[in-house]
Amino acid sequence: MNEICRWSVRQLRDALKRRELSVSEIARAFLERFNEIDSEVRAFLHVDPERTMRQAAELERSLARGEKKLGFLTGIPLAVKDNISTRGVPTTCGSRILKEYVPTYDATVIQRLRLDGALLLGKTNCDEFAMGSSTENSAFFPSRNPRDLERVPGGSSGGSAAAVASFQVPAALGSDTGGSIRQPAAFCGIVGLKPTYGRVSRYGLIAFASSLDQIGPMTRTVRDAAVLLQVLAGPDSRDSTCSRAPVDNFVSGIGKDVRGWKIGVPAEWLSGGLDPEIRTAVESALKVLQGLGCSVREIRFPHQKHALAVYYIIAPSEASSNLARYDGVRFGHRSERANSLEEMYEATRSEGFGPEVKRRILIGAYALSAGYYDAYYLKAGKVRTLILQDFRRAFEAVDLIVGPTAPTLPFRLGEKTTDPLEMYLSDVFTVTANLAGVPGLSLPCAVSKSGLPIGLQILGPHFQEGRVLRLAHALERELTL
Ligand code: GLN
Repeated sequence: MNEICRWSVRQLRDALKRRELSVSEIARAFLERFNEIDSEVRAFLHVDPERTMRQAAELERSLARGEKKLGFLTGIPLAVKDNISTRGVPTTCGSRILKEYVPTYDATVIQRLRLDGALLLGKTNCDEFAMGSSTENSAFFPSRNPRDLERVPGGSSGGSAAAVASFQVPAALGSDTGGSIRQPAAFCGIVGLKPTYGRVSRYGLIAFASSLDQIGPMTRTVRDAAVLLQVLAGPDSRDSTCSRAPVDNFVSGIGKDVRGWKIGVPAEWLSGGLDPEIRTAVESALKVLQGLGCSVREIRFPHQKHALAVYYIIAPSEASSNLARYDGVRFGHRSERANSLEEMYEATRSEGFGPEVKRRILIGAYALSAGYYDAYYLKAGKVRTLILQDFRRAFEAVDLIVGPTAPTLPFRLGEKTTDPLEMYLSDVFTVTANLAGVPGLSLPCAVSKSGLPIGLQILGPHFQEGRVLRLAHALERELTL
């Protein structure tokens, strides 16, 4: 492997600035890495080397002519989860139903990356419509964990995590509805940040659960996560849920000390089914934080016990409504085996969706149906508010919340595919941040005896990504993994 594939976004940018490397050289190095490793890792669904090299050459010309200035991400090859719309580039959502779909427009985040001069190296594998925690629900193939190819990379943004962890790109975009950025980041030993709901535009993100979905960066360093968020964040008239709040300077904010900060640890997170090695890793990270001048105290999440149940009502309910659009009429797959319109709908959806997506549509349609709406969807909404109040109360007493990202180490392929409830348990510590809308980051904090990565989760109050990143950066500097 070419050494530059190990470099961070920042190192690559510095080399470009000093003209020690050209954009084409960088693109070529990462494409070579893809050729070398992706037949094993299988992070990508779609890579178009010619297109990437053409983009690189064009960029090089406009840089040389002075038409373009070096931005944060100019000339940096990135991977993008396949549920984010890319104009002219297939966007399948890991589903058969969108196998042939090529969007005619770019998601807002893609526009922003392009404007900054980033290169699109490829689209990454994911669980179908981002429903899953292992990428095994992809209609095409599972991705593998670069740290142990017999194990899953996590999900649903497992392809993005695996691409970053196997040095095929320095950074990637994922999406997080219930943990899909943070859990694969933890499993692959990288940094993953789910921003506050509304911090990053969802325009062009193919909807799973609209009140929970958020796009965010997956990187190898905390600083790179800050850099990507800087480019991605900000208001967008095309997404009415996107906040107009001013965007902090995330990049210059990190690097300052964290002395005197109050850190809360939810008692409910360190008990029960947590893997003992993960508990030990979290406890030693807390000691490091104390060494940095933070105070650590226990907090309570009285409604944590309902979080998974609430998530697995709300997310499928929204999904059943969002996925109604795949009817074989406007885009995507259409069944050939039908004699009437109704048969066409039925056959298209039966052929196009995989078992987990069908399960969620059924659960969601049931929870929203006339006789059950009050008992399920309405009640889940109320408990969601209680979970939000748990966070509000906690953040009156502490600056940030720290705990594990996932309850287990990366599991083996096939280990949880027969039991959906087992798979859902992977999300027990991550769904609360989505339900409350707060930002969360997973930072590699230790390696297990068996050599597998362990992630530490840091949660902050709404729109306090800067604070989350600053703590993560301070910790990253202390940890030698
Ligand atoms: N694993 C969770 C689910 O299956 C979360 C997925 C996500 O965040 N997209 O719903």
